[in-house]
Amino acid sequence: MRILKIQTLRGPNYWSIRRHKLIVMRLDLENLAETPSNEIPGFYEGLVEALPSLEGHYCSPGCRGGFLMRVREGTMMGHIVEHVALELQELAGMHVGFGRTRETATPGVYQVVIEYINEEAGRYAGRAAVRLCQSIVDRGRYPKAELEQDIQDLKDFSREASLGPSTEAIIKEAEKRGIPWMPLAARFLIQLGYGVNQKRMQATMTDNTGILGVELACDKEATKRILAANGVPVPRGTVINFLDDLEESIEYVGGYPIVIKPLDGNHGRGITIDIRSWDEAEAAYEAARQVSRSIIVERYYVGRDHRVLVVDGKVVAVAERVPAHVIGDGRSSIAELITETNQDPNRGEGHDNVLTKIELDRTSYQLLERQGYTLNSVPPKGTLCYLRATANLSTGGSAVDRTDEIHPENVWLAQRVVRIIGLDIAGLDIVTTDISRPLRDVDGVIVEVNAAPGFRMHVAPSQGIPRNVAGAVMDMLFPNEKPSRIPILTVTGTNGKTTTTRLLAHIYKQTKKVVGYTTTDGTYIGDYLVEAGDNTGPQSAHVILQDPTVEVAVLESARGGILRSGLGFESANVGVVLNVAADHLGIGDIDTIEQLANLKSVVAEAVFPDGYAVLNADDHRVAAMAEKTKANIAYFTMNPDSDLVRKHIQKGGVAAVYENGYLSIVKGDWTHRIERAENIPLTMGGKAPFMIANALAASLAAFVQNVTIEQIRAGLRTFRASVSQTPGRMNLFNLGKYHALVDYAHNPASYEALGSFVRNWTTGQRIGVIGGPGDRRDEDFVTLGKLSADIFDYIIVKEDDDTRGRLRGSASDLIVQGITQVKPNSRFESILDETQAINKALDMAPDGSLVVILPESVNRAIKLIKVRGVQEEIQPQN
Ligand code: ATP
Ligand code: ATP
Ligand code: MG
Ligand code: MG
Repeated sequence: MRILKIQTLRGPNYWSIRRHKLIVMRLDLENLAETPSNEIPGFYEGLVEALPSLEGHYCSPGCRGGFLMRVREGTMMGHIVEHVALELQELAGMHVGFGRTRETATPGVYQVVIEYINEEAGRYAGRAAVRLCQSIVDRGRYPKAELEQDIQDLKDFSREASLGPSTEAIIKEAEKRGIPWMPLAARFLIQLGYGVNQKRMQATMTDNTGILGVELACDKEATKRILAANGVPVPRGTVINFLDDLEESIEYVGGYPIVIKPLDGNHGRGITIDIRSWDEAEAAYEAARQVSRSIIVERYYVGRDHRVLVVDGKVVAVAERVPAHVIGDGRSSIAELITETNQDPNRGEGHDNVLTKIELDRTSYQLLERQGYTLNSVPPKGTLCYLRATANLSTGGSAVDRTDEIHPENVWLAQRVVRIIGLDIAGLDIVTTDISRPLRDVDGVIVEVNAAPGFRMHVAPSQGIPRNVAGAVMDMLFPNEKPSRIPILTVTGTNGKTTTTRLLAHIYKQTKKVVGYTTTDGTYIGDYLVEAGDNTGPQSAHVILQDPTVEVAVLESARGGILRSGLGFESANVGVVLNVAADHLGIGDIDTIEQLANLKSVVAEAVFPDGYAVLNADDHRVAAMAEKTKANIAYFTMNPDSDLVRKHIQKGGVAAVYENGYLSIVKGDWTHRIERAENIPLTMGGKAPFMIANALAASLAAFVQNVTIEQIRAGLRTFRASVSQTPGRMNLFNLGKYHALVDYAHNPASYEALGSFVRNWTTGQRIGVIGGPGDRRDEDFVTLGKLSADIFDYIIVKEDDDTRGRLRGSASDLIVQGITQVKPNSRFESILDETQAINKALDMAPDGSLVVILPESVNRAIKLIKVRGVQEEIQPQN
């Protein structure tokens, strides 16, 4: 077996609209191509031995053991690889359920599709599954040690990619509320929402979090001073920079017990509390110096440690934090008790679980000593033995929810403190013997205020009720149904995508909104180019969706992008499908026009139920997509008598129709005329029917998004794009006595479309300079010839400079074959060199004629025309 290609899909895709995270593996079974599993001796037994849990896979029989039954009876290896890849992820704790396997047109080559949670893990699982199956084929078994390593590696991928418990909590809440999110390229920034409606977060800081508040909170001494100045109870203390000042500072805070900590520390690093002697104080000073130059000396306040979380001015959760400890059982030593405690499956490394494993540090031994223990002591049953002085979860502490117990006065105080510091999300560390009584009554203090407080202790306390603190954050960022998304309109089809996308963006601009759009020419925001190039994939969509100024996104969506990586966003508000015609068949395992239609229908299917699929009623493959989408349907048609559209309107639907020379929206009993085709420059004076169709589609897409008829009309009338913006797209030049048209129609459907315009040219002869890229199929050249015979009065057949491996002259022979098949007495000649062919056509053009050039190089063709003194460029869009 050999893996030919692995692709990672993100977003609705060819295989599934709902499952957005899929790996597609192109797998060549090689010598196993003809051998089902039942014909491989020992395979079934080896597989069951390696992965007994495959018993849980139902597969087509629909019952437990169903898949293994298929293996026993005989199924192909691609299918087995699929199930194994899913099971490996499952064993590593990533729950995935979706898989598909299909043979491609190349015998023995399969597409194996598997769901993933983590991209890298998914790709790894695919490769490991192939390895596992191959090993069982070759040796009858897969070594246990290797399987364990695979599972460990998969777990590592998953852990490394994890965003941290606070971010996870926020993302989960966002998903629950239907708020889209994506990681940004740097600094663990997360974007919530799209475009102009987006918010950003980094851990638990938001884009509302002020830098002044953060800096103040990070400076413990300044925080205390400001709070003290406002009458808030804070520890009595001072800051020193030299050991010489330590003694005096201890006196200043009122003598022992004291606390020594670094001025700008966190996570409890370098802190020693409850210091009772000079020796301890000196050691504590040194420890704090490791972390910070300046040292805080404070009075030690007796009490328990509490974290009060304030979001958007309100206390949303309170947790008591209990330092790492063990409880004696009368039999085990402290060392044994620690080992036992750390075996709790809830304890992980760092922040990757609810609790963190207990590790001992310098203060732990001091603390034990003070309690009269060593690691080998056996504490009496039921005694609490502290192992850490501070209660940080990251040093093995635990948390008890106390949200319902905090005294109202303390709530008021906490909220006031956070306002004074100036933070939208803050965690207060309060030391008090009893949080249910006012701080003042029990000599409690606010030790510090934390910016970016962790959520773990509130969403997953070791005791008490978990609190949905991420919900409070979402309420703040997106209050009262404030939109998080921007409208997304996608356009696909075989021909006319770029034109329609540009036109739709232009129509939308009439609403004065900032429109971001992507096309095969580039990515644009408003009137400006962001990036040139073929930008129809998900990356370019993200450029638009991440831009903080964009209010509407219009995205050209081409087959290649959908196939390679999926749509890149979960749903659109409008999905336009213009047409489906044979083009690029045989590429990417899309071999038939039906498959191509299925691929394009992703755009229609990935529309919100309250959105619209805008479909071409005149193309039966497109019209049929209505069956597959949950969205509303809007049809456009060139045929005012279309049965389909009439019925649709009778049922209350909306449509765009070309009737009596007008582009109109028909809804209910009313026909809203937008504009005469003649007055729409894009339609070339109404002579280019396919452009009328594109304009109908764009108008309809805008209309269902509540753009007004007036705005649509204004857009259609003023849509202009220069040759420099859309070279090769129906570029018409007036050369005085005759006209020349440059277009790179590149498939039969677009020649046909071009022909419909050329046939409308009635002032003189129609001359064609035609040819096509050498990598097309033979029959495509014949078709080009046949179509051309019907369109032109005179044809010059030429070839590309780059024949793409074809014998020179062979493409033109095929074209000529097509021409003569249709019209044996056609007037034509072959001039293989493109420049010569174009010049010949321009030289011979009689008055009133039209020379149509389908060039290899658009730029060269345009230059050849321009040197002849072009009077004006009459672009379709101009
Ligand atoms: P974190 O990152 O967890 O907030 P930190 O490194 O910022 O910790 P502090 O919050 O200042 O440090 O102190 C850590 C813990 O030490 C406090 O939560 C509290 O339990 C204890 N502590 C600090 N100062 C005092 C004090 N003056 N009296 C009593 N306990 C204190
Ligand atoms: P690409 O696949 O190259 O990105 P596209 O779908 O974006 O193409 P456009 O760039 O808008 O298409 O148009 C390319 C050419 O296709 C036009 O110059 C014209 O010849 C033809 N064309 C445009 N619209 C249609 C249509 N609705 N039906 C058939 N052909 C069309
Ligand atoms: Mg703290
Ligand atoms: Mg395009």
